[in-house]
Amino acid sequence: MKRLFGSRRINILILRGGNFGAHFRCNVRSRREGKVKRYDFGKKILAALCAALFFFGGLGCPAARAQAASSRDPVVVVIDPGHGGTGGRNEGGIFGANMEKHLTLLTAQAMQQTLEQFEGVQVYLTRTDDREVSLSDRARIAAEYDADLMISLHYNMSADHSLYGAEAWTSAFGSEYAKGQTFARLWLADMQNAYGLLCRGAKVRRGNGGLDYYGVIRAARERGIPCVILEHCYLDNPNDNGLVSSPEGIAGLGVTDALSAARYFHLKSSSLGLDYSGGSYPVISAPKADAQPDQTSPQLFSTAARKAGEGTMSVTVKASDPESGLLYYSWSADGGATWSTLERWTGEEQMDFSCPVPAFGSLLIRVHNAYDLTSQTAVKNP
Ligand SMILES: [Zn+2]
Repeated sequence: MKRLFGSRRINILILRGGNFGAHFRCNVRSRREGKVKRYDFGKKILAALCAALFFFGGLGCPAARAQAASSRDPVVVVIDPGHGGTGGRNEGGIFGANMEKHLTLLTAQAMQQTLEQFEGVQVYLTRTDDREVSLSDRARIAAEYDADLMISLHYNMSADHSLYGAEAWTSAFGSEYAKGQTFARLWLADMQNAYGLLCRGAKVRRGNGGLDYYGVIRAARERGIPCVILEHCYLDNPNDNGLVSSPEGIAGLGVTDALSAARYFHLKSSSLGLDYSGGSYPVISAPKADAQPDQTSPQLFSTAARKAGEGTMSVTVKASDPESGLLYYSWSADGGATWSTLERWTGEEQMDFSCPVPAFGSLLIRVHNAYDLTSQTAVKNP
């Protein structure tokens, strides 16, 4: 398997001045070649900074509620580059030349180097090279540093390569839920604004005995540390994977992560000319009862089809999902043998689209919610 980034070191330089205000450059040094490549982040980072103007709520997607949070000084952030070491899960998702364990480390290094340019923050990594670290050891490291927040970096894949977008996972319990959800929603808003990524939500997952399903979140909560898993984007979907097609793209995601963390902790950087101390964002409270994942499929209200042209029909679908929201819709014109790519559900409770008239039978339509549960219906050939 090709390992793209094993021997590279990322240096992020953040420069002031010019029309861009804050200007970001990233030096990617290949140890083997001894060469330094310089990448420029100006536009991307500007977009990320602009994200600070937006307030979000719900599952982390659009809403408008704002409140300031307080934090002690200095704050401690432990960044956890997901996976590491050899074999199976240690390597994480693999698609094309990308191996998740390398991407997470590259992202983490860029995040650390950016975040350390803010005042009043200490930043640590759970691993700084390609090695296996158990989930409980990662949480133990975060506890030893008395982390205010543990941020576990990951990249996603799906079985049929159909899914796309950014998502985050948090504890379902108490203050770990509240802090994790607050940061996760802020980060999702930044990812949406900086990169146009679909927001797949800030979610919880429960496992054995109702405990948090994800081991690193569970182990961190046992030690009183709020932990959030950031699944930046899908390595195996063309909607997303342009972001990870170059070292500067991967490092850019780490810079965005750092700015989200700086915003969350209201940090200020004299060297960068950035001041988030007066910033605000939606603050999520601890749940009255433990938070639950969405376990119900979307509600499909109605569908209608009319002839649009030779071999084409126009379809209207009315659906909603009050718990986790709708993400995608798809259709099949061959009785379910093959399906369209997942299209973004951008409407409130209605989507209109065109598709081919089925050669026989009805058109099948599916709607997908943020927990990847689907509802399906058939609409008659007009
Ligand atoms: Zn992962």
